[in-house]
Amino acid sequence: MAAIVQKYGGTSVGSIERLQAVAERVAKTAKTGQPVVVVVSAMGKTTDSLVQMAKEIAATPCRREMDMLLSTGEQVSIALLSMALQELGQPAISMTGAQVGIVTEATHSRARILQIQTDRLERHLNDGKVVVVAGFQGIALGENLEITTLGRGGSDTSAVALAAALKADRCEIYTDVPGILTTDPRLVSDAQLMDEITCDEMLELASLGAKVLHPRAVEIARNYGVTLVVRSSWTDDLGTRVIAPERMPRKLEGLELVHPVDAVEFDADQAKVAMLRVPDRPGVAATLFGEIGRQSVDVDLIVQSIHEGNTNDIAFTVTKGSLKHAEAVAQAIVPALSPDPATCQTEVLVDREIAKVSIVGAGMIGRPGVAAQMFSTLGQAGINIQMISTSEVKVSCAIDAADGDRAIAALCEVFDVQMSSVRERDPDAEATVDAEEKPPAVRGVALDRNQVRLAILQIPDRAGMAARIFQLLAKNTISIDTIIQSQRCRVVNNSPTRDIAFTISEADVDSGRELLEPLLKEMGCGGLVIDRNIAKVSVVGSGMIGQPGVAAKMFAALAQEKINIQTISTSEIKISCLIAEEDGVKALKAVHTAFGLSGSNTVGVRA
Ligand code: ADP
Ligand code: ASP
Ligand code: MG
Repeated sequence: MAAIVQKYGGTSVGSIERLQAVAERVAKTAKTGQPVVVVVSAMGKTTDSLVQMAKEIAATPCRREMDMLLSTGEQVSIALLSMALQELGQPAISMTGAQVGIVTEATHSRARILQIQTDRLERHLNDGKVVVVAGFQGIALGENLEITTLGRGGSDTSAVALAAALKADRCEIYTDVPGILTTDPRLVSDAQLMDEITCDEMLELASLGAKVLHPRAVEIARNYGVTLVVRSSWTDDLGTRVIAPERMPRKLEGLELVHPVDAVEFDADQAKVAMLRVPDRPGVAATLFGEIGRQSVDVDLIVQSIHEGNTNDIAFTVTKGSLKHAEAVAQAIVPALSPDPATCQTEVLVDREIAKVSIVGAGMIGRPGVAAQMFSTLGQAGINIQMISTSEVKVSCAIDAADGDRAIAALCEVFDVQMSSVRERDPDAEATVDAEEKPPAVRGVALDRNQVRLAILQIPDRAGMAARIFQLLAKNTISIDTIIQSQRCRVVNNSPTRDIAFTISEADVDSGRELLEPLLKEMGCGGLVIDRNIAKVSVVGSGMIGQPGVAAKMFAALAQEKINIQTISTSEIKISCLIAEEDGVKALKAVHTAFGLSGSNTVGVRA
């Protein structure tokens, strides 16, 4: 019989009573005769306390010693849970990441799993024992054996990776909420439980701040077709199923490293509308996209760059067939955007000759090298990138249509993908999809308050410049998101320049700045501006593809609360806005309600 993997998070094993309750639940499953592997986190807030202790000794403690320290938390819970199981008469054995054969790369504090040597684990399962595994940790082989950790929240990843390696029947993630909800119930009390969500949607939500699942766990579930369920460890309710697509079997070697890109997609049916010098105040994006939505024009990518003076630039793409219509709407709306039409400086530019090239896969943001590789491949081919859209499942670049073939060829070669799928729109086919079958336009919303925005000013506008910046960050495992290039070109010393803004995690800001400053000097850029006072609010749903008006609804909800949108970036199944940090929770609540996600059930949240 195939095994089952159950993972219990910190709150679920936060006390002796909780450990005993978990032992009862595990023993009950084991009694059915199914082999059980249990992955546990450190008890309660142990990992946070360990981090705090380290911070009291050193401002930036050495990563190797941090791994040595943090891995102890899980070791306590595995031993105690094994004892609790044995007390119930259930044979059990605890094992650390190293003992269970979780082999990782040698990158401390965010190691990826390379393989799992399951022989020892399987021997114990065959002997009828429950194997209790320390989550979040592994071992790097090589000259020196080193304890590694997978990154905060990484026990989910240990569990799903074990399930993939054992070809387990399913992986159950037990936590302190009833499953995956439309948003974080600690911030929005009327968040509702979902029965199911696709892996792609969950990947986006997880990387945009919904910490209920570690994004890498979802990535493995998607890539290996693991049946994944998130449930409460307090009840027998069913929880939420995370639906993995049917896939070709994959090799288990290089588990988290190989083949991040499944396909290269090309969409020639794109045209760009850019609006320059749009007033920077709440409600502008809502008015613009509200009108575009009312005219049933479907907008694909939207990018609003950081403001210059008191204006922003907003660019968006539409199909070539709707360009005239979109342009007319944009032109008509211009006077309404400015309080004083006489001084209105907004200008509308259009470009028919663009195309969108995308790489598709899982974990694009979590693997910083992937997007950087795409940018550098295009740069080396002399292809200028006009717009960038990043997300966990797709990175897209709007380029000159004439560069399309070269872009496809170069990307297919670099990412070793045979066929590029060329997306052709078939409105008839879309129309025949039964409304009931169509997933919701917005499945969930998320808030990330741990991001910082970096803006690099006056970067020479030549192919390959973005690539140099993002490759340097990627080499140092710094993930970037929400990359936004300004539409306006500023001529400095006779050469055109643009600004690029992007977000990185708060924890990476100091090292990011140290890395970037010398490079930016060498490249002749204008400077680096860091804004810590931001929050990112995002909506995610695979049903938003081909559905006009979703962005407009989000912007209108923010406008109603008088929240100014600082930047906008979208991808196929998500829309993210950067706003002031103090507006974060208000924005999350407003957007959650606007999409009808609030309900009357109050979901129980454990302390
Ligand atoms: P565990 O210790 O079990 O791994 P985590 O604290 O890592 O638990 O994740 C569960 C928490 O994730 C919940 O308590 C909740 O506050 C938060 N969360 C954020 N977004 C969501 C969401 N969309 N659905 C459910 N929980 C969410
Ligand atoms: N104990 C680790 C943490 O708190 C890993 C986990 O709980 O998933 O981040
Ligand atoms: Mg967790």
